[in-house]
Amino acid sequence: MTRKPDDEAERAVSALANADDRIVEGALRPKRLSELIGQTRVREQLSLMLEGALGRGRTPDHVLLSGPPGLGKTTLAMIISAELGAPMRITSGPAIERAGDLAAILSTLSEGEVVFIDEIHRVARPAEEMLYLAMEDFRVDVVIGKGPGATAIPLDIAQFTLVGATTRAGLLPAALRDRFGFTAHLDFYEPEELGVIVRRSAGLLGVALRDDGAEEIAGRSRGTPRIANRLLRRVRDYAEVRGNGLITQDIAKAALELYEVDEMGLDRLDHAVLAALVRKFGGGPVGLSTLAVAVGEEAETVEVVAEPFLVRAGLIARTPRGRVATPASWEYLGLPVPQQGPWVRQPEAGQGPPGEVTLFD
Ligand code: ADP
Repeated sequence: MTRKPDDEAERAVSALANADDRIVEGALRPKRLSELIGQTRVREQLSLMLEGALGRGRTPDHVLLSGPPGLGKTTLAMIISAELGAPMRITSGPAIERAGDLAAILSTLSEGEVVFIDEIHRVARPAEEMLYLAMEDFRVDVVIGKGPGATAIPLDIAQFTLVGATTRAGLLPAALRDRFGFTAHLDFYEPEELGVIVRRSAGLLGVALRDDGAEEIAGRSRGTPRIANRLLRRVRDYAEVRGNGLITQDIAKAALELYEVDEMGLDRLDHAVLAALVRKFGGGPVGLSTLAVAVGEEAETVEVVAEPFLVRAGLIARTPRGRVATPASWEYLGLPVPQQGPWVRQPEAGQGPPGEVTLFD
């Protein structure tokens, strides 16, 4: 049985938002570019672009934000609208099933408005074509009638800035990607940056947090602000019920062990992926869908939620022949690293054990 994305969001370290997160996230989201922690390059590039557009009194280029869930795409969209002093419409790819759904939004925009489309890779095809024209010429063709008698009536719409977010940039057709003047990929955060985020959130939530407690939480947050904020809330509960309310390193450690968040922040799904790859498939290479079936998840969940961080942590690699475990995976699972694996150069005859570790690609 495969689990639904909602179950997925209930895991302590899932990067997907659960109902609880959505309530608290509003309060914790940085509101301006200057408050945003990390993503220095993206912040600087955006700041230049927005200031330039404001200076010229024009709407800025359309913005495409890609990257794994929980890294700040929605936050950045909101910041763009705040920096421009423009209102924002929020929708998502799955909500736009027909061109008419999109036309309803685009034809009622006011000048300069920001339109945020989350999961833009899931916009239905006919709507996508309408989007091309709207992005380029600020025009939509409204089709009246059906069949051979149908006529397209061009309708001018207000100049707007589209902010698209996607966890799967690779699925975007080139024609859509090319229409964004500004694209940025958000990467996982460093533990130091997550430490700053956790301290900021603790301040906003009125939680007593020692620096060593913040570091412990940051180190186990899978490089993801959303997870850092969620773990902070779990640890706060623990500190209030089992301690005196102050989050210290010991309290954070004990709480996170209780929630089965290990030192690298890997959780049940990550473990399952690594264990299947190593134990069932001998380290691979194995195709994504086969791996997903082995852990009872949707291929997309494995690809979007688990894999990017496992790759970043150096535990698995993507190769054209499939996913491959690195020696670090065996070590992580407490297993002896085999002498030969898909990643190891075959030793020359009589030259002893394999030397340098090389993943082929
Ligand atoms: P995404 O849209 O990429 O899934 P969000 O923008 O919803 O991610 O971010 C999730 C939460 O993480 C936000 O509510 C916010 O509190 C926090 N967050 C994200 N990025 C940052 C950041 N750079 N600095 C501080 N907090 C952040």
